[in-house]
Amino acid sequence: MENVVIIGSGPSAHTAAIYTARANLNPLLFEGMMAGGIAAGGQLTTTTEVGNFPGFPEGITGLELMLKMREQSLKYGARIQTSTVDKIDTSHKPFQVFSEGIATQTKTIIIATGAIAKRLRIKGEDNFWQRGISACAVCDGGLPIFRNKPLAVIGGGDTAIEEATYLTKFASKVYLIVRRDVLRASKVMQKKLEENPKIEILWHSNALEALGENSLEKLVVRNNKTNEEKTLEVRGLFYAIGHAPNTIFLDGQIDLDESGYIKTIPGTTQTNVKGVFACGDVQDKIYRQAITAAGSGCMAALEVERYLTEQK
Ligand SMILES: Cc1cc2nc3c(=O)[nH]c(=O)nc-3n(C[C@H](O)[C@H](O)[C@H](O)COP(=O)(O)OP(=O)(O)OC[C@H]3O[C@@H](n4cnc5c(N)ncnc54)[C@H](O)[C@@H]3O)c2cc1C
Repeated sequence: MENVVIIGSGPSAHTAAIYTARANLNPLLFEGMMAGGIAAGGQLTTTTEVGNFPGFPEGITGLELMLKMREQSLKYGARIQTSTVDKIDTSHKPFQVFSEGIATQTKTIIIATGAIAKRLRIKGEDNFWQRGISACAVCDGGLPIFRNKPLAVIGGGDTAIEEATYLTKFASKVYLIVRRDVLRASKVMQKKLEENPKIEILWHSNALEALGENSLEKLVVRNNKTNEEKTLEVRGLFYAIGHAPNTIFLDGQIDLDESGYIKTIPGTTQTNVKGVFACGDVQDKIYRQAITAAGSGCMAALEVERYLTEQK
């Protein structure tokens, strides 16, 4: 029987693996096999440069960073299984974790399955993904290619306004592309928007096609009321249309919020099931950064250790 099974392979899973391995808990980590369409290593494997993870002043690519974390997990004795967890059973103890038809019994589970940033899959998007098109303004907005250039953000919620406002620090102008004629964002956020002269809202609009040579140069947008099309000369396009947390495999056993994120007791990684913990983006819709994911992975590991000691 396992002390702890960790499900996931991003910064939160590997931090939890490093801590639980160093605490002699001999963790077993399921890193997934293209789980949710993303390679083992998680969201950072889909980006190029990561400039905001402390310890790498010269920068590091997302893939390299995740390979280093994986290496560190192995170095301290974590066992890594390259398969996806299809279901768990928390109805009785020990818990069971199922992957490729094999059941593993475990005293505790850390769920670190992350989330997937939604994309619109417009024409040309694949050509310019991470070459002008991104799903994270806080991560990528400060890159030199976006400085003093017109940029666009797609979305109508709080995140979209926050990202558009953040980008005005670097951009010459920011277009906010909104599908309808209203914003879903809170009144406070809308006020922030109105007060920012660098932001222009394009109501009733849909992005159609990304154009350029080596990086994004233009975005074709259509007004869905008038069908009028126009081409924006933007060097950056940021999706702020939400994330999908990887929680479907939990099949109702762990409490989720209305958007599918795992609910944890505030200030902890404890879920509604004692002995099951959640960390990283799968339980965080606010910060969604590698460092915050890693921080909560550390919390989950320490809480597992404490829980197992209490059970003895
Ligand atoms: C394009 C992009 C650029 C980004 N750039 C930065 C940046 O520069 N700096 C920064 O701090 N943050 C950045 N982020 C955000 C950062 O990647 C995330 O906050 C962070 O990766 C979340 O880590 P996590 O541990 O929650 O898991 P994730 O990175 O979301 O990884 C979880 C992984 O677990 C695996 N998995 C899922 N389900 C299962 C299952 N059932 N069984 C087994 N395995 C499973 C999958 O491989 C999944 O991808 C970026 C995000 C994106 C999308």
